[in-house]
Amino acid sequence: MVIKDSCLSPDQIEAVLKRYGINPTAQRIAICRFVLCDAVHPSAEEVKDWIDRNFPKMSLATVYNTLRILVEAGLLRELRLPHSESVLYDNNVAMHYHFLDEATGELFDVDPADLRLEFAQQVNFQVDSVDVLLRGTWGRSSGGLTNT
Ligand SMILES: [Zn+2]
Repeated sequence: MVIKDSCLSPDQIEAVLKRYGINPTAQRIAICRFVLCDAVHPSAEEVKDWIDRNFPKMSLATVYNTLRILVEAGLLRELRLPHSESVLYDNNVAMHYHFLDEATGELFDVDPADLRLEFAQQVNFQVDSVDVLLRGTWGRSSGGLTNT
């Protein structure tokens, strides 16, 4: 079993889970090693694939339950984007937009500071949330996009 170094150690993940009121079981810590660090906008199927390679014997129900708990706690955000049938999980819970590289399928985060959205005239509705998906090819322009 080879796992590449993650951004958080298991001890750090345990501390984060406790801080969010989540019982840090070994299975949850394992899932967090992927979804909080290595993965970028994975689907539940991708999480399960990674778990099967690294922590066999975990059930799909455990993966789904853990993802739901992490979303409810505010550590992950669910994304439903038009390019994918699957719900994607985003460990960047700050407000941001997305850029889809249509050549590779890779999804990049876009800082709202780099893309200003505003109405050209007065409107009568209150906007509570914004989902923006930009599509194109990564690396061909000088826009302020980052993949962090
Ligand atoms: Zn994102």
